[in-house]
Amino acid sequence: MFKADPFANATKQVNDACDVLGIKDKGIREYLAMPNRVLRVKIPVKMDNGKIRIFTGFRSQHNNDRGPYKGGIRYFNPEGGVPYMEREVMALSSWMTWKCAIVDIPLGGGKGAVYVNPKTEKISDAEKERITRRFAFMISEVIGPEKDIPAPDVYTTGKEMTQIMDVYSKLNGNKYSPGVITGKPIPMGGSLARNVATGLGAAYCVREAAKTIKLKLKGATVVLQGFGNASTFAGEYLEKMGAKVIAASDSKGSIIVATGFKVSKLLEHKNKKGSVVGFPGSKKISTEQLLTTKCDILVPAALENQINAKIAKKLKCKIIAEAANGPTLPEADPIIYKKNIIVIPDILANSGGVCISYLEWVQNNMGYYWSFDEVAKKMEVNIVKGFKDIYALSKKHKIDMRRAAMVLAVSRVMEAFEHKGIWP
Ligand code: NAD
Repeated sequence: MFKADPFANATKQVNDACDVLGIKDKGIREYLAMPNRVLRVKIPVKMDNGKIRIFTGFRSQHNNDRGPYKGGIRYFNPEGGVPYMEREVMALSSWMTWKCAIVDIPLGGGKGAVYVNPKTEKISDAEKERITRRFAFMISEVIGPEKDIPAPDVYTTGKEMTQIMDVYSKLNGNKYSPGVITGKPIPMGGSLARNVATGLGAAYCVREAAKTIKLKLKGATVVLQGFGNASTFAGEYLEKMGAKVIAASDSKGSIIVATGFKVSKLLEHKNKKGSVVGFPGSKKISTEQLLTTKCDILVPAALENQINAKIAKKLKCKIIAEAANGPTLPEADPIIYKKNIIVIPDILANSGGVCISYLEWVQNNMGYYWSFDEVAKKMEVNIVKGFKDIYALSKKHKIDMRRAAMVLAVSRVMEAFEHKGIWP
């Protein structure tokens, strides 16, 4: 159907986990792999020039055996068009089911998308708001604080989340409903610590991984690929734990300072000059050099498909914390495993975001709000437990951490399913 079908990939991961768990029943495998519902909607919007344009949107609800569906809404136009986007949201909703199960939060997996690229298509703010409100209207029957709780994703922000909340509330007799969506601005019921969540969660994972290989974080060297939200906070929290960042990159290039630097100093430079490149005292290096720099901790936090087999063979780190989604190609996994490098798979390493989204929803539902430290502490508990559970399974079954993560997730959903069974 496509060169690479993301949903076929997600299904293969479920089947691989079932192999390890000894789940042979074809019906149960299909039950675990397929989304419960994929809603496709037509979104008619009056554009600024007065003409009507029809957009297509999706909401895929993969599994809610452990709790309401949870997952972002993205505005994007992947190659492969609308048919590809449908497969992509199905896959992404499946990955959300597993991500929530790994960190043991009582939520299931969902994902939504509208086929539009607001950046390249020069969609005005007013048009974007009309798309958002109409999309919210079209999916309003299937979302809700106890049903399905969307969140921001590619090219959507707290602004769109507030608009979706507003539409939902108006359709429900003006009922104040902050719990219908997460990733909201703080005055709209958002949670403290959401902005640092992904980087902080990745740092907690690295701390746990370091303990398992008896690596002292004091003086440990860190390489960051990317220098945005996830990587800068991961870098800053690792610094607080005693580590030293020695290299970083962005879309314009990569730099290294062998003796290390303060993340805040590089941020100051990037804010002034628009890139990490040219940072005083640094040397410019290639992407391959950055990824294969001798270091203790490598944090890929930029794009997918960065570590292929060739790079994997040259890696000289002890821990990889995948803050980005899908930075490692499947061909690289066995090579990395043989090299004894401990990988914190994306599904755990970047789960800080969904943990805090869950905590935002909890705070909304009880109408009582926690301090930054309380939220961070609660997230830490879930992430540390997720790491320990995955690590134990990887040792028990002699499998890599990525596969162990899926085994943990599938076993947790399976447990819920066994309690509930099939409604006749
Ligand atoms: P961001 O836009 O804040 O930062 C991305 C960084 O990557 C930027 O510094 C950009 O310059 C850099 N980059 C782009 N192309 C690059 C290239 N070719 N080489 C090196 N660097 C490049 O994004 P983010 O929120 O930090 O997200 C980064 C990754 O983490 C993504 O894969 C995202 O899906 C994942 N993630 C983020 C969150 C979150 O809450 N921020 C949650 C889950 C997953």
